[in-house]
Order: sequence, then C-alpha cells, then structure tokens
Amino acid sequence: MSQTNGAVLVLSGPSGAGKSSLIKKIEHDIGSYYFSISTTTRPMRKGETDGVEYYFVDEAEFKKDIEEDMFLEYALVHGNYYGTSLKPVKQALEEGKLVLFDIDVQGNSAITNRLGDITTSVFISPPTLSELKNRLTNRSTDTQEVIERRLKMARLEIQRVSEYDFLIINDSLETAAKQLLQIAHVARLKKPLDQINDFVYKWENLEN
Ligand code: 5GP
Repeated sequence: MSQTNGAVLVLSGPSGAGKSSLIKKIEHDIGSYYFSISTTTRPMRKGETDGVEYYFVDEAEFKKDIEEDMFLEYALVHGNYYGTSLKPVKQALEEGKLVLFDIDVQGNSAITNRLGDITTSVFISPPTLSELKNRLTNRSTDTQEVIERRLKMARLEIQRVSEYDFLIINDSLETAAKQLLQIAHVARLKKPLDQINDFVYKWENLEN
C-alpha cells in the first residue's frame, strides 16, 4: 500500500463563487498537483490567455475532439461547450498528483461516475444569491445578459449541492481557503478501489 497514487478534487460552484481565488490561495500548500485546463468554445474574456484559463477553440474543433474520444467529460454550459481532456489527467494521476477540476455539476457527476473511488467533490458557494449578483456586477467582465444567465444557472446548480462531499460557503476568503486546504489533504488519502481490494486480499498473510 505504499505506492503513491493520484487523487481527484472537483470544485464546482457558480462563476463568481471565488473558486480561482481559493485555488490561488492554497496552491503552494497542497503539494504536487495538476490543475486541469479545460477546452472551451466560449469567447475569451478580457485578461484571459489561451492555454492558461482554458484552451479556446471553435465549435468545429471541439466537435472533432468529441468524435475522437479525447474528453474525459464534456458539457454544454451557458450555451458554450466545455470539456476535460483525458490524456493530461491520466498522466497526472499516474505521477501521483492531486488533479484539481473547476467544472460544473454535470462534469462532477460524469467524473464521479468514472473516477468515483479517487474523487472528492466540493461545492463552493457565495453566502447568498444577492451577494453573487454583487460580485458578478462588480467584476464587470460580463454583459448584463450574461450575468442574468449565470444567476439563472446558479439557482439551478445550488439545487444539486447534495451531490457533493463538501459545501464551502465562501463568505470570508481566509476561512474558506483553510477549509479547502483541509479537504485537499483528505482528498489525497483516498485509495483506488483496486489497491483496497489488493490490501484486503493480502492482509491475512502480511507480516509486520
Ligand atoms: P466560465 O465561463 O465562467 O469560465 O465557466 C462556466 C462554467 O463552466 C463554470 O461552472 C465552470 O465550472 C464550468 N466548466 C469549466 N470547464 C469545464 C469542463 O471542462 N467541464 C464541465 N462540465 N464544466 C466546466
């Protein structure tokens, strides 16, 4: 049981919940990790860089990747496609890293179905809907129409919080970051099912 194994930490929550700020705050304390960069068809926002926040592609390229089975999961969110590429995730897990995902509720459900035994999931929420509205309005990266769409999505997503292992209410960034760090440490302790079965199988005959 001493072999290193990777684990998965899924973070979901409405845009504006503070997921990126929280990841930035804990990234130096969680050990070796890989942040899964998704591919999306949504237009690049001001301040974003291709290959950093996302790989930005057009719909034809995204659909080609779907056909070629390149995605671990993908979903249509706010009218744009978002997907997680399988290859880098597989490699990071083989290297024993903690793989972080910032994906929506559909993505969490797909990842949990495929990698449930090594997955821990956290839903990050602003304290109230009106606080979310303030944050989205103040960051002024989206049009009013986009903000309204995100708020509508948030109302739907919050209904599915019970599908997650943990809920973090991001009222104070400091407190939320401490909670997320604890969860990240615990996530690493999850053992893949085949290792558990192997341990149980050999346990009776193991010597100290
Ligand atoms: P945004 O456009 O604000 O960056 O992200 C919109 C939503 O898409 C967020 O809820 C985010 O978690 C989700 N998302 C980002 N990447 C992926 C992905 O690869 N798969 C899925 N299912 N959702 C994603």
